[in-house]
Amino acid sequence: ETKQLDMPPRLLLGPGPANVNPRVLSAMSISPVGHLDPTYLALMDEIRDLLRYAWQTENELTISVSGTGTAAMEATLANAVEPGDVVLVGVKGYFGNRLVDMAGRYGGDVRTMTKPWGQVFSLEEIKTNLENHKPAILALVHAETSTGACQPLEGVADLCHQHGCLLIVDTVTSLGGVPLYIDEWGIDLAYSCSQKGLGCPPGASPFTMSSRAVEKLNNRPKPVPNWYLDMTLLAKYWGEQRVYHHTAPINSNYALRESLRIVAEEGLEQRWNRHQQNAEMLWSGLAELGLSCHVDREHRLPTLTTVRIPDGVDGKAIARKLLTEYNIEIAGGLGELGGKVWRIGLMGYNSRPENVLLLLDALEKVIK
Ligand code: PLP
Repeated sequence: ETKQLDMPPRLLLGPGPANVNPRVLSAMSISPVGHLDPTYLALMDEIRDLLRYAWQTENELTISVSGTGTAAMEATLANAVEPGDVVLVGVKGYFGNRLVDMAGRYGGDVRTMTKPWGQVFSLEEIKTNLENHKPAILALVHAETSTGACQPLEGVADLCHQHGCLLIVDTVTSLGGVPLYIDEWGIDLAYSCSQKGLGCPPGASPFTMSSRAVEKLNNRPKPVPNWYLDMTLLAKYWGEQRVYHHTAPINSNYALRESLRIVAEEGLEQRWNRHQQNAEMLWSGLAELGLSCHVDREHRLPTLTTVRIPDGVDGKAIARKLLTEYNIEIAGGLGELGGKVWRIGLMGYNSRPENVLLLLDALEKVIK
């Protein structure tokens, strides 16, 4: 006799995926239609419009990439970087280093500006680095999931555009949870994921590109060196021509549509405020337990908090106990912060006061 899959009822308070609204799960279980079925094509248009709202952009080329956040990251670099382009990357955490690696693989002449993990770049530092390196592209991580720091972005694109440079921003841990204005801030290329602030399972990842970035793409002397993620081809599938490109993950896009509808129903401002309020509740509770956060309050992300593991405490054992005895998932540190911090996520559907209370209560008991 075959047994149905039986997974434990975890509360996912790590860096993602997060738990999802039952509405999203139920949308995901609807029977798939064909990927060129008129009803599915209409759903693609709906996703594009809802993504434009969530991202506050009018960008024509706004789509969901079939794959996780890393696929959308790869799409961004594949379509933006031409061999020999000077690509300046802000590295202040694990995902900045991933951008360095990927930009190099697409032939970029990669330069880095660095900050200790947990800090962010000032506008002045960005200006100086743009003047020194004169890059064709600047890439920054808005919400560094490895450190819990939020990079301020206002004014950055103005500096870039004065130097004829495009601005790429990783919004994987900010979209749907942290204020983000693609057009107002002048961001040229951005990518994200479904499983964090949008409150959806992983698998369909938002991507958007400004007309300035599209112009650079259309003027490339050679095709994009990645067939699957070539936006000149994908634009023909997502645009009016509807040219077959690949078999889209239909059910992942059903889920993405539903999660984006939930974002729109709640309203962005309301959603951002909710994330901020619940994060503040977490920070106060942690302070009461005598635990301190790794990032200054001014730059702390509401979606992901890094908490310093006190001396003499076995961080891994605590996380393990939370999982096995309380069904609560939190994560340890990545890279340089490995063994030094816990990472606690409050994202999308999971950003709620009752989850903060559950975690604080369990953490107190387990630490004791
Ligand atoms: N960029 C950032 C900032 C992330 O936090 C992550 C994943 O956590 C990624 C990129 C990669 O996304 P994925 O794991 O969905 O491929």
